[in-house]
Amino acid sequence: MKILVAGGAGYIGSCTTEYLLEKGHEVAVFDALLNGHRAAVDSRAKFYYGNLADTAELNRVMKDFSPEGVIHFAAFIEVGESMKDPGKYFANNVGNAINLAEAAARAHVRKLVFSSTAAVYGMPDVVPIQETMPKEPINPYGRSKLMFEQVLDWYERIYGMQYTALRYFNAAGATRIHGEDHHPETHLIPLVIQAAMGVRPSISIFGTDYKTMDGTCIRDYVHVLDLAQAHLLALEKDGSAAFNLGSGKGYSVRQVIDTVRKVSGKEFAVKEEAPRPGDPAELIADSTMAKTRLGWKPQYDCLETIVRSAWEWRQEHPNGYGDKS
Ligand code: UDP
Repeated sequence: MKILVAGGAGYIGSCTTEYLLEKGHEVAVFDALLNGHRAAVDSRAKFYYGNLADTAELNRVMKDFSPEGVIHFAAFIEVGESMKDPGKYFANNVGNAINLAEAAARAHVRKLVFSSTAAVYGMPDVVPIQETMPKEPINPYGRSKLMFEQVLDWYERIYGMQYTALRYFNAAGATRIHGEDHHPETHLIPLVIQAAMGVRPSISIFGTDYKTMDGTCIRDYVHVLDLAQAHLLALEKDGSAAFNLGSGKGYSVRQVIDTVRKVSGKEFAVKEEAPRPGDPAELIADSTMAKTRLGWKPQYDCLETIVRSAWEWRQEHPNGYGDKS
């Protein structure tokens, strides 16, 4: 299949591009390299340097590459930043994303697969979370993702372009060649790994008084290659829907720290700090729908395996892709 990956120079986009190429698909990456890295674009993929704001360029790429499927990863992802600069999030994650949907629909793309997020659920009353549960985002980031899911629904009704929204829980881990390199880094696993490598003086735990088994937040970590598998399944299947993608297992912040200690064999300082505003105590996915309807079979649902892959990638790439500081 010919697949255009918008945001293929980013973390999940680069790992998914690699996975699609390994499975024999023809892939082109479209990326503005705002947060992504040129070195993260798989050398076997065609590369279009461009911004989703540029509708003429999008139309040109659609004509030049003629994709059957499009995967959209090219969004801003920082919850905290979205609370300070909501316009940045709505303009790109909704406005520019509409440019992509519009260009894809005009080019008669059969299906668009969209990176959505557990943040669409806000503060859930019940875990594990099912897709039908209330969607009340508590920040502009989550709202922007939910809005674009709704936009896609109208593109299906009006133009017949199918879509799958994949609501990731906590994406983590790495392949042998592609991994996580955000600037600034805000995610727990890469930060703990950097503390274990001595790149950071310590790791902070945000909140130790949650009503959880050890007082720290619980999250559902899902391996990036399992996410990649779901994108291909979504492209191969007919129909439109939204699916949760998580391992269904919850691990606390302290358990993540202990796992990094075990995998790395390193000791490092841990600081207990105030909770981060807007952090739900517990987020765990019910991914039954993705398993039954997409045929999703996660392969790496053990935290130690996930952390080990991230650790090994960082040992091979101590400065990440080395192009940003
Ligand atoms: N977290 C933490 N210290 C850090 C970064 C994150 O204690 O330096 C916590 C955070 O409060 C959350 C969990 O780790 O409970 C996962 O955070 P992350 O930012 O990786 O993902 P999120 O769940 O916010 O999408």
